[in-house]
Amino acid sequence: MSTETILVLGGSFAGLGAAHYALKHTIPQLPKKDGTTYTVTLVNPSKDFYWRIAAPRAAVSKKLMPASKYILPIEPAFKSYPQGSFTFIQGSATHVDTAAQAVSVTTASGEHKSIPYVALIIATGFSTPSPLFTQTTDAAALDATYDAFQKILPSAKSVVIGGAGPVGVETAGEIAEFLNGKPGLFASAPKNPKAKVTLISAENKMLPVLREAISKTAEKYLKRLGAEVVYNTKVVSTSTASEGEGAKTIVQLSDGKTIEADIYIDATGVRPNTSYLPKDWLDERSRISCNPQTLRVETAGPRVYVVGDVGSYTRGGVIDQAVAIPVAMTNLKTDLVAHISGKEPGPDRHYTANLSEQQICPVGTSKGVGAFGGWRLPSFMVWLIKGRDYLSGQLAAATLNGDGFKKEGKWKPQPVAARAGLSSG
Ligand SMILES: Cc1cc2nc3c(=O)[nH]c(=O)nc-3n(C[C@H](O)[C@H](O)[C@H](O)COP(=O)(O)OP(=O)(O)OC[C@H]3O[C@@H](n4cnc5c(N)ncnc54)[C@H](O)[C@@H]3O)c2cc1C
Repeated sequence: MSTETILVLGGSFAGLGAAHYALKHTIPQLPKKDGTTYTVTLVNPSKDFYWRIAAPRAAVSKKLMPASKYILPIEPAFKSYPQGSFTFIQGSATHVDTAAQAVSVTTASGEHKSIPYVALIIATGFSTPSPLFTQTTDAAALDATYDAFQKILPSAKSVVIGGAGPVGVETAGEIAEFLNGKPGLFASAPKNPKAKVTLISAENKMLPVLREAISKTAEKYLKRLGAEVVYNTKVVSTSTASEGEGAKTIVQLSDGKTIEADIYIDATGVRPNTSYLPKDWLDERSRISCNPQTLRVETAGPRVYVVGDVGSYTRGGVIDQAVAIPVAMTNLKTDLVAHISGKEPGPDRHYTANLSEQQICPVGTSKGVGAFGGWRLPSFMVWLIKGRDYLSGQLAAATLNGDGFKKEGKWKPQPVAARAGLSSG
């Protein structure tokens, strides 16, 4: 009797979904052979799931967004599965050996392990240049980052945010409202703003996924809170003006101007967590290259899949994962059944990206902009859906518990594609 492992790297939105899916739908449907049992092992640097969506408010105020709303322990969410079917390892993958089908992991206590896999799901996501939006190691370290930020924020007179995607816009709104207060009902700007908040947009509009008119409305809401937007400009570099506490940051802009800021926040994009993987698995943006329909990582040998923002197939975001995770996991099951039974594989399940205008972006605690499925949403709806609590009450626990994957969902069988090492794996 032996045990084979479905190994999931990364315990956030995508990895949690994949692990639940494997436990609910993959393992129970595998053919029984030679008494082999199949289990899921999940590897993540932190033992806690970070509801990163709340980061723009969590960074600004523990009162407005307490940690209990965005830090949730991972292991209890897997207690309902049969004993022994799930293992959590607090650690980081450091190397993948495809020949041996094993992943090297360094645990949080510094131990080195090699974990063999029969199937591998990579969901290691991305890090952000600013530490305010990433749980790099554990919840305590993130908490310390927020403590340090919240110590300097109240006295800041000038805050510059580089990057006018949703993270930059949401952060500018939260910070401007925190420092300058809520404006009067009909006010177009605060009367006596305490701080100048400047958002730098590389393009002639903010929020790339949304139409220009929606970006303009976001600008209007930012102005009401005392935040200004600078368009067609990039942050070229930053340097520290002096040493020690209270040191200002000199922000050099592409138009030749500089801004002296008490706080600079880099919200200019993301860095895929792929440094532990072979370079030939990656695309030009360091994301994992995969078959965009089946989500197999074809260069990585048999039964390796990618889900979430680390994959080349997606423009990112958690809504997309509701489509992608069932695809990758159905193809994993098909490949595993073929591997166990020695029979020809069944049909593939295909992923199709939803590229409609879709994004919801609060601007402070009472306004916001957005669109869903191409339909513009009124500010009140944005507040109702997301602005109240950044979805933490409604969706954080549900995501952690895999509630979105109770069913396998309907799908249309597609022709069988070539797989790496199908006969030999
Ligand atoms: C501030 C902010 C707000 C956002 N708001 C929204 C929103 O409102 N709506 C939306 O759809 N999207 C939003 N996003 C995007 C959303 O957060 C991402 O789509 C989502 O985090 C991607 O999930 P993921 O599981 O693929 O990756 P991640 O969430 O990045 O998780 C990757 C996990 O892998 C772990 N990991 C990294 N390296 C290793 C390793 N070597 N070994 C093991 N584990 C590893 C990480 O620690 C992490 O736990 C937001 C992003 C940010 C930064």
